Amino acid sequence: MDSQAPPGHWQPPGGPTSPLHERVACLVRELPKVDLHVHLSGAIRPSTAAELAGLRASELCLALPSRLMSYSDFFAPWNDVLSRVPETPNTAARLILELAEDLSAEGVQYAELRMSARKSLIDNSFPDWLEAIDHASSLGRSVYGVDVRFVLGFARHRLESATQANRLGNNLLEGLDLLRYTSVVGLDIWGNEDINRGLEFEVWLQGAAVCGLPISLHAGETPASHRLLRERVMALRPRRLSHGPVLQNSPAVVRMLRQRSIGVEACLTSNIVTQSGLPTTARVGSLRRLLDASVPVAFCSDDPTVLSTSLTREITVALCSSVITPQELRKTMRNSIVYSFAESSLKGELLSKIDSDRSGAILAEIEGCLDKVVRKGDL
Ligand SMILES: [Zn+2]
Repeated sequence: MDSQAPPGHWQPPGGPTSPLHERVACLVRELPKVDLHVHLSGAIRPSTAAELAGLRASELCLALPSRLMSYSDFFAPWNDVLSRVPETPNTAARLILELAEDLSAEGVQYAELRMSARKSLIDNSFPDWLEAIDHASSLGRSVYGVDVRFVLGFARHRLESATQANRLGNNLLEGLDLLRYTSVVGLDIWGNEDINRGLEFEVWLQGAAVCGLPISLHAGETPASHRLLRERVMALRPRRLSHGPVLQNSPAVVRMLRQRSIGVEACLTSNIVTQSGLPTTARVGSLRRLLDASVPVAFCSDDPTVLSTSLTREITVALCSSVITPQELRKTMRNSIVYSFAESSLKGELLSKIDSDRSGAILAEIEGCLDKVVRKGDL
């Protein structure tokens, strides 16, 4: 396993930093950003997780992952902690507001949060839960100036079977169709794709058009899931795919993403920390192939607490590791807005901030910092 990235390539969390690196991070933090892929549960504050799970802080520290490992091993300790956190409407609202505050501190102005509707559909609290998260979304904007929207779905590994996935999925679609909360903007299913032999867990998503919601699909997170990508894209017509480090190595897949104008949510730290099947250079190289092929890429944080990262950190390390240039950063930031599920007026507002003189000056300063890095030969 490649626990040490070679010089000049992506460094996972805990990698070396320098004053220049810190300066780039400060500048990136000031940019008006959009994060299209944050799991609410994976973004929980550690102190809140300990409090709600009834654990002492020292017990939580033991649960934090400290080394690179396989996908399921990586998440196992956190799944254990998160399974103790009550999934009530009040808890969901609290986590959303705390995350809105944290996103605001990172300069994120719009975010789409992945949230599981499983528990609320099973115990019939779905209408109350929806009302609570919708209200929290309004508060996030009024209190912290962050527009938070929701992409709802399920984690495959928390479902009993494909039958349950489709029953709950159909209930979810019916509930959304009846209740029509504006803060719910998309649908997804995530977790270990190898549970599927075909698209058994995803049949319900073919009904997404009923409530007019687009799909952003976790896809290609494990080597075995590669063979199902075409079927997924054909059957579900996602507007965006997330993760998918394995898929990006296939020229046919890259062509399909470009031709169908499917956005890719790039979660680099997540892909690198949790994917043991490919060396780091190959996984970073696959992102370059997407960028070079003009596939619309957007940087995202995925599970910031679990992965010890943030959108600022993801972008900073991509810049300082020469994965992207500042010009490409502007393009990926525009992609985050154009491929978001936000209403068009909000997209226009966000795009004008990216294209503003202030953002231009920040990007120019980042370029100056990176030029110094090149001249010095290291960071
Ligand atoms: Zn994810």
